[in-house]
Amino acid sequence: MATATETKNLRTPIVCVMGHVDHGKTSLLDKIRGTTVVDKEAGAITQHIGATEVPLGTIKAMCGNMMAASVVIPGLLFIDTPGHHAFTTLRSRGGALADLAVLVVDITEGFQPQTIEAIKILRQFKTPFVVAANKIDKIQGWAPSPNSPFIKSFTGQPDYVKAAIETKTYELVGKLSDLGFSSDRYDRIRDFTRNVGIVPISAKTGEGIPDLLMVLIGLAQKFLEDSLRMTVTGPGVGTVLEVKEERGLGFTIDAIIYDGVIKVGDTIVIGGKEKPFTTKVRALLKPKPNREIRVEERFDRVSRLTAAAGVKILAPGLENAMAGSPLRVATEENKETVLKEIEGEMEKARIVTDETGIMIKADTLGSLEAIVNELRGAGIKVAMAEVGDISKKDIINAETLPEAMDRVILGFNVQILAETKEYLQASDIKVFTNDVIYRLIEDYEKWQKAQKDMAD
Ligand code: GDP
Repeated sequence: MATATETKNLRTPIVCVMGHVDHGKTSLLDKIRGTTVVDKEAGAITQHIGATEVPLGTIKAMCGNMMAASVVIPGLLFIDTPGHHAFTTLRSRGGALADLAVLVVDITEGFQPQTIEAIKILRQFKTPFVVAANKIDKIQGWAPSPNSPFIKSFTGQPDYVKAAIETKTYELVGKLSDLGFSSDRYDRIRDFTRNVGIVPISAKTGEGIPDLLMVLIGLAQKFLEDSLRMTVTGPGVGTVLEVKEERGLGFTIDAIIYDGVIKVGDTIVIGGKEKPFTTKVRALLKPKPNREIRVEERFDRVSRLTAAAGVKILAPGLENAMAGSPLRVATEENKETVLKEIEGEMEKARIVTDETGIMIKADTLGSLEAIVNELRGAGIKVAMAEVGDISKKDIINAETLPEAMDRVILGFNVQILAETKEYLQASDIKVFTNDVIYRLIEDYEKWQKAQKDMAD
């Protein structure tokens, strides 16, 4: 049994929703956000900047007596931006920011390229995940009963509906097995550390969502209890989600604080476009429960925040901050050391090898790392890799690559700067840009094959 002190020291696990386009990631997050619980003691779902917190009380109220009494995880913090781009962008020291992931799969379509891409990334970061087999309401004969937890309503379905869900679930089990995972329908699993749970859900009717949340709490309890403990005191550590200019406020950053405490007046160190810099927190802003029209009234000011939480930070110089970079609270004494540490973290993502290979540009450290890994896995050599839009300097650098076939730049989620376009026309460098990793690689491989065919 956990004591009250232990419970107090556990932070909320961070959950990211991933999966193929149109499989229902946004709908699932919307449904979770829209879930309200009347029970006062259960606690309401609260909106953070960039994230949504579902307290344990709410999940318990939804699940009734299905939830184990010994649970000490305080709730779940869902990152509002779905997709594996968000997952790889949001980095914590040495790993993924998300503690857990939900892999959404349209049960009528099964695994698709981005499903497999997401699994590769989850495996690379060793992130525990659960599969949400979505859109079960599309199975003919399904009778929605949104007010009851799934297990009950599932057993209440006609046999042919149950059989259809069972068949589709086994197709997912098969796919996961091909990828080296053992899995089963969640209510048949005894040990979630060995098996991946598959929860049939409908993001449309809400069916199965209580079960999904319950399995996530169970996963957090099993995998994360030790790492989640003792992390809510000490200086704040986080990740910059977005750099935004807000009318009436100037430049702000939206950040997720995943460790420790951040207060107004704190000195923070953030990764910048050129290099990391320090600034002082002028205000910490949280969204108001009801969105008002006037910008200045949209946020509540708070004086301190404890992990895990999403927050908008107001401080001088934030126009230079870089999305996806680390954020750390420092003191006057240690801020030079922290600056050096963050510089080291960011430098690690920049790759210049003596090998032959192509050039990669990506929008954030995390996505750069993910794409370089993916390319290397596909046997494609990378000579240079860097964060940022494609500049004239990049074209000039790519022109120095010794092999003609290597004079290629793959840009992931970046722009070709205006000044570059003209220069590019007169150059033999080939540039591909896309915001979907597998499409970018596909385009490149197609081009490479065409070049080879032409040479033969
Ligand atoms: P995302 O691209 O993964 O974020 O997918 P969306 O949430 O935007 O969903 C794609 C489409 O599928 C939209 O038209 C949704 O309304 C629909 N959709 C999502 N979940 C469900 C579901 O559970 N049942 C049904 N019938 N449609 C769904």
